[in-house]
Amino acid sequence: MDILILAVVIAVVVIGAISGLVVSGRKKKQLPPSAPSSTPTITEPPAEPHVGEEAEEPHEEPRRTIEEVELPEAQAPAPEAPAEEAEAVEAPEIEVPEPTAGRLVRLRARLSRSQNTLGKGLLTLLSREHLDDDTWEEIEDTLLTADVGVAPTQELVERLRERVKVLGTRTPDELRGLLREELLTLVGTDFDREVKTETGHEAGGVPGVVMVVGVNGTGKTTTTGKLARVLVADGRTVVLGAADTFRAAAADQLQTWGERVGAYTVRGPEAGDPASVAFDAVKEGKEMGVDVVLIDTAGRLHTKTGLMDELGKVKRVVEKHGPVDEVLLVLDATTGQNGLVQARVFAEVVDITGIVLTKLDGTAKGGIVVAVQRELGVPVKLVGLGEGADDLAPFEPEAFVDALIGE
Ligand code: GDP
Repeated sequence: MDILILAVVIAVVVIGAISGLVVSGRKKKQLPPSAPSSTPTITEPPAEPHVGEEAEEPHEEPRRTIEEVELPEAQAPAPEAPAEEAEAVEAPEIEVPEPTAGRLVRLRARLSRSQNTLGKGLLTLLSREHLDDDTWEEIEDTLLTADVGVAPTQELVERLRERVKVLGTRTPDELRGLLREELLTLVGTDFDREVKTETGHEAGGVPGVVMVVGVNGTGKTTTTGKLARVLVADGRTVVLGAADTFRAAAADQLQTWGERVGAYTVRGPEAGDPASVAFDAVKEGKEMGVDVVLIDTAGRLHTKTGLMDELGKVKRVVEKHGPVDEVLLVLDATTGQNGLVQARVFAEVVDITGIVLTKLDGTAKGGIVVAVQRELGVPVKLVGLGEGADDLAPFEPEAFVDALIGE
């Protein structure tokens, strides 16, 4: 009899323990029932993201750095992809960004400062009856003031001198046409300015990966957020990687941008390893099956070596998943020569594939487009023309030059 009672007690205890385990196991998988509305659960960072997660027990083990971990090569989507989270992304109110085509035309008025300095300034000078040496010097100064750069300025002045001489008398229309042509040649119509996101797909289904680099304050994080909108507007799905772990607000800022267009943001612990976050972002992107993973990186320029180590590492680690499609350098157009110095430093650190020039709305120095392309030998792909969510425009040489000289 005693044995029977003992057996019943043991059975009750065992059943109780098992059901407790099941409940707590389920709880883990569930989204918290009443997350505060200001921070939707779906964009909560995966707990302690770290590299090689699926290859090891996620608990207890001390966090390891990227170097210490053997990274898996191309991985199949993990069977335990966070399906609930992926679906829940649809939950918040999602905005529909403006189409990207024609954005530069829409925003052309924002280039008015550059237009007055560069376009109208040049046209006025070229319309003078006598184009003497002093006038040509003024034309040269106008171009230099607009940050076109010394070599391109000299080339342009030479070409204009030649063509004006051949032309003889000049009507305003002829002058405008001539200037348009020459400015277009300078800006370049042959560059491929599309933001590439397809390399990974060709190499086996990995999402396209775009890294955004640049010094803090240039508008890097804002631009990453706006670029997510550009991609979404073009019909692509996006995961954001908040690898700028050194600026506390950057991840929040990026997450907010992401939420607006339904893009999931992968975050890491504050001051955590940026490369680890970047790796996890691509991993998440793979699991969710999105088209593009956009990675915002840290832009501290205290020491070049530090930056070099960090950015180089982020890129190398991300490449464990597959090729990086684009490394976009964000430059603040208002910083002139300083921007060019930054461009040089970054180009030594990583292979820049495209330039994003921000704050072109706040400067008369639109000529920086020409100078920076010359400096790096890569095209300006996007330009920022305001603080509005859809004020990032694909760069179109014709629309840009037309805006400068006024049609
Ligand atoms: P980060 O430190 O480089 O990540 O810089 P943020 O993304 O935080 O941007 C710095 C400031 O620049 C913010 O106030 C942005 O709104 C502003 N900004 C970014 N792009 C543009 C632009 O194209 N035009 C203007 N006027 N402001 C911009």
